[in-house]
Amino acid sequence: MTAIRKRSSILIMIVIFLLVLLGSGGFYTIYLTHTIKTDAEITNKLGIIRGSLQRLSKLELAGIQDDELIQDIDLRINEFKENKIKLYDKKNEIQYALGDLCGTWTPLKESIYTYRTEQSSQSKKVLLEESEEAWTKSNSMVMASQLVSRNKVDKYQTSFMFFGTNLILGVVLIFLIKRYVKDTLEHLVNYDGLTKVYNRRYFNEYLNHEMEKSERYNKNLSLIMFDIDHFKKVNDTYGHDVGDSVLKELSDLIQAHIRKCDILARIGGEEFAIIATETNVDNGLVFSEKLRKIVEEYDFKHIGKITISLGVTQFNHGDNSDLIYKRADTALYKAKNNGRNRSEIEIQLSYKTNS
Ligand code: GH3
Ligand code: MG
Ligand code: MG
Repeated sequence: MTAIRKRSSILIMIVIFLLVLLGSGGFYTIYLTHTIKTDAEITNKLGIIRGSLQRLSKLELAGIQDDELIQDIDLRINEFKENKIKLYDKKNEIQYALGDLCGTWTPLKESIYTYRTEQSSQSKKVLLEESEEAWTKSNSMVMASQLVSRNKVDKYQTSFMFFGTNLILGVVLIFLIKRYVKDTLEHLVNYDGLTKVYNRRYFNEYLNHEMEKSERYNKNLSLIMFDIDHFKKVNDTYGHDVGDSVLKELSDLIQAHIRKCDILARIGGEEFAIIATETNVDNGLVFSEKLRKIVEEYDFKHIGKITISLGVTQFNHGDNSDLIYKRADTALYKAKNNGRNRSEIEIQLSYKTNS
């Protein structure tokens, strides 16, 4: 049970970890998608400033005074300066470039006003120089914006792959969980919680199944039932926990000495049964004695020696599970009555109703 619980908590932790990865990956992808769209608009707006600066200088040099264009450039630069447009630019690269541009925009405006009042070759030269400077800075700003956007596109690809990988992992995990739940449920339904051998429910199902096969294909089948001798004394002397550990040790011991095709089940408190396929009652008795001696010679932790009594029977044609079960039980009863730590067989006994 603790192993199941441990595995469940590990699985839950993996699921939570994957959900966090999926969630954060998903949010990051959405964030990038949104900001990349905004970045494109920002680059466009910065491009307009760059173009307007170039146009303004050209017009002024041609003697056309366009105050509306100056106001428009002011307005557009201020939009950025006053953070009316949100920049998703962690390293503030666009902000720095904007600062540089502002540093050239004011001298450019001054050179324009100077050129308007006195159109000397000196003022023209200054205007041309300031215009060139402003264009260079605005161009750097556009480039910075494009670079920020480009970096995000690269990250977007990585995050999309990350998101996709997580999705695939999620599908694999769901498949594993499904299998795990199925295995765990099957285990809980078919196995005894303490000893980890099959339980009575599975034993009955398997016995019926094997009896049908024996009936149809005329095959031998033996049923061995065994019970710990004086087990009550073990509990009374050493306590229930030690009793439990003896049950577990005995199950492991028997399980280690039966064939893979045989089934060991705990059918009661300290009562067990073995379904031995392809085995007649004579061989069943030999098998039973072998197990009895193994137990007799084994040293159990805390308590040392215990013995078991065993009842053996075989499948007879026309049998049903009640009959074969009762015969094995009668054989076990005989073994107890005849002194314990022994095996007895019961072949013929049949129970007819209303006879
Ligand atoms: P006998 O030789 O006639 O079989 O004597 P016994 O003392 O083994 O038989 P009895 O039926 O009088 O007692 C069986 C004991 O098994 C009583 C019960 O407390 C104990 N028992 C049953 N299930 C468990 C279990 O899961 N754990 C422990 N520790 N004891 C159990
Ligand atoms: Mg007993
Ligand atoms: Mg008993």
